[in-house]
Amino acid sequence: MADLPKNIGWIGLGAMGYPMATNLLKKMSEDTQFYVYDVVQDSVDRFVKDGAGRVHACASSKEVTDKSDLILSMVPEGSHVRAVYLDPTTGVLASPSLTAPKLLIDCSTIDPATSLAVRSALTTQHPHATFIDTPVSGGVLGAQKATLTFMLGCSETDPHLPLLQSLLGLMGGNLFPCGGPSLGLTAKLCNNYCSSLITLATCEAMNLGMASGMDPRVLANIFHTSTAQSAIADDWNPVPGLCPEAPASRGYVGGFRVGLMAKDVGLAVESAEAVGVELVLGRVGLGVYRKAAGDERYRELDSRVVYRVLEGREDWRGDFPGEVGMRRDETRRLIRRAREEGL
Ligand code: NAD
Repeated sequence: MADLPKNIGWIGLGAMGYPMATNLLKKMSEDTQFYVYDVVQDSVDRFVKDGAGRVHACASSKEVTDKSDLILSMVPEGSHVRAVYLDPTTGVLASPSLTAPKLLIDCSTIDPATSLAVRSALTTQHPHATFIDTPVSGGVLGAQKATLTFMLGCSETDPHLPLLQSLLGLMGGNLFPCGGPSLGLTAKLCNNYCSSLITLATCEAMNLGMASGMDPRVLANIFHTSTAQSAIADDWNPVPGLCPEAPASRGYVGGFRVGLMAKDVGLAVESAEAVGVELVLGRVGLGVYRKAAGDERYRELDSRVVYRVLEGREDWRGDFPGEVGMRRDETRRLIRRAREEGL
C-alpha cells in the first residue's frame, strides 16, 4: 500500500463526484484534509458540513490546487475540463504550486483529444506534475457503494500506479491500467458504445418477440441461457416488468441519464473518425440516443428509455397473466462454472 497524501483536492461535486469524494472522506485517515470546489456553491457547502472541520471550501480550481498534494476532478464534458484546468486565472494550471510533483486525476468522461491537450499543456508548463485520465463505470450506485471500475490512462509500469491503486481502491474494486495517456477514455467510450448498442438490439429483439406472440419473460430467460445473454438483458432489461430493480420497471427513473449516453456515443463516433475506423451501427445508434436526449419527456430518464422512443410494447402483462420465474444468478453461476471447466 502506498502512503496517501494528507491534502486532497476535489473539483466537481455532482451525481458522481459527491459520493466518490464522500467515500474518501469516510475512509481516509482523520488527519487528511479536503479542499473542494464546484461552480454550485450549495454542493460545496453541503460537503463542508459533512466534513466536520476536515473539508475546506475553495473559490476556484486554482485555489484547490494551491492547497492540495493531489487533485481529482469529476465534471460533465470536455468544455468543463478545459475550464477547470486551462482557465488562465482560475484553472488548475494557473497554480504556481505545480512546480511540485503533484498528481492530477481526471475522472470525467470526455473526448480523448481534450484530455491529451490538457496533459500536453501541463507537461509544457509544469513538467514535474502529472495528468492522468481515469474515467469510471458503475454509475451513481457504484459511486455510493465504492464498487466503481476505474480505467486508467497509464501503463502497467507507471510509477504512479501503486498510489493510484491505494487511493482509487477506496472508491472501487476494479482498476485497469489501459496502456497510456487517454486510453482510459478510449476504454470507457468503447464500453459505453458497446453497451448502448446492446441495449438497442435488446429493445428491438424483445419487441419483435412480443409482436409475434411471445411472453417477454420466456424470451428473457432464453437470452439468459443463450448467446444473446448480456448484463443489459439480465439486469437492465429495457422492457418494463422484467427486472424489478431496473429503471425500466420504475418508469425509467434513476440509472444512467440518456443525455450522458448520447454524449458518450457521440464521443465514440468522433473518436472512430479520428482514428479512421468505420462504425456501421454508430450513426444509427447515435440518432436514437440524440432523439431521446433532445426530447424533454425523456431527457432526465435512464438511457434504456430508448425502448419507449422505439415504441416498444410496455403493456404486455395483460396478455400473459400466468407467473414465469426469471432465471438469474443460479444459472449464471452454472454457466461460469461450465466455461471454467471448458464445457
Ligand atoms: P453532474 O452534472 O451530476 O456533476 C458534475 C458536477 O461538475 C456538477 O456539480 C457541476 O456543478 C460541476 N461543474 C461543472 N463545471 C464545473 C467547473 N468548471 N468547475 C467546477 N465544477 C464544475 O454529472 P455526473 O453525473 O456527476 O457526471 C460527471 C462525469 O461522470 C461525466 O463525464 C459523466 O459522463 C461521467 N459518468 C457519469 C455516470 C453517471 O451515472 N452519472 C457514470 C459514469 C460516468
